[in-house]
Amino acid sequence: MDKIVFAGDSFTWGEGLELFIENDKWISQRKKHSEWDELSVIQDDESVEFRESHRFPRLAAKELGMVEIVHKNNGGSLSSYWKFMDDRKNIPDVKAFVIQLSQANRDAIHLTWECKCDVCTKFDWANIDDLFSAIKNNSRKPLRDYIVSVMGCDSVGNEFYRRFFLWLSWQKRFISNLFIEYCKMLEERAPVYFIDTWDVEEKNWINTTPYVRERMIPLVDRKGNYHTSWGNWEKTFDVKWIAEMFPETKNFHPTPELHRYLAKSVVDFLTDKI
Ligand SMILES: [Zn+2]
Repeated sequence: MDKIVFAGDSFTWGEGLELFIENDKWISQRKKHSEWDELSVIQDDESVEFRESHRFPRLAAKELGMVEIVHKNNGGSLSSYWKFMDDRKNIPDVKAFVIQLSQANRDAIHLTWECKCDVCTKFDWANIDDLFSAIKNNSRKPLRDYIVSVMGCDSVGNEFYRRFFLWLSWQKRFISNLFIEYCKMLEERAPVYFIDTWDVEEKNWINTTPYVRERMIPLVDRKGNYHTSWGNWEKTFDVKWIAEMFPETKNFHPTPELHRYLAKSVVDFLTDKI
């Protein structure tokens, strides 16, 4: 059977969908803090099956008469997508790779965890979030000292931040370009398409490059209008996040309705292409 690979973070993975199971266990869970730390320890066969069958990769693949391939673990970044897709690029009958974009700060600073350079190995493949916490919280002093010295500064101050953010802006584009070069190789196997990041603050990253813009799957809203920007699309829904339905959960992941519209978007876009 034809297959479609979905690389994505907790949105693709379907975090929180189990809260919509109509039994006592999950109905009472809706009144409790229910992010993945809380949900992971109370999973059962029913919740796994429910999540997998209600997330957009399954809904879309089913409609297209295909089988979906999704990472077995929750979460993701370009670095993990790269590994995930590379491990699966030789699976027969893959008809498309669909990549749901996440946040640049999660990426390893040289994109891949397989980079053997002295910086990546010394600092345990730190990502941009790790750099921020090292700078702000002094949580990893050797890493902080290294960043400060690379920026040509003596300490963390205004000049340091000016240089750091300048570097960061170039770094995000550098990682994007590495990932795009990888996608071009992947396209020899099957076409690659993207879903925009849910992080509307993400700027100057891969989602703004011409390569990705040309391959962005338009997202359909309730009125049948299509949006290539996640931010514009999500505004059309009164309720987007699980936490808007069940506030105590504090779970800011898409509702089953959003998953259905994501699936419809993928199906509408891919139907004539694969
Ligand atoms: Zn490296």
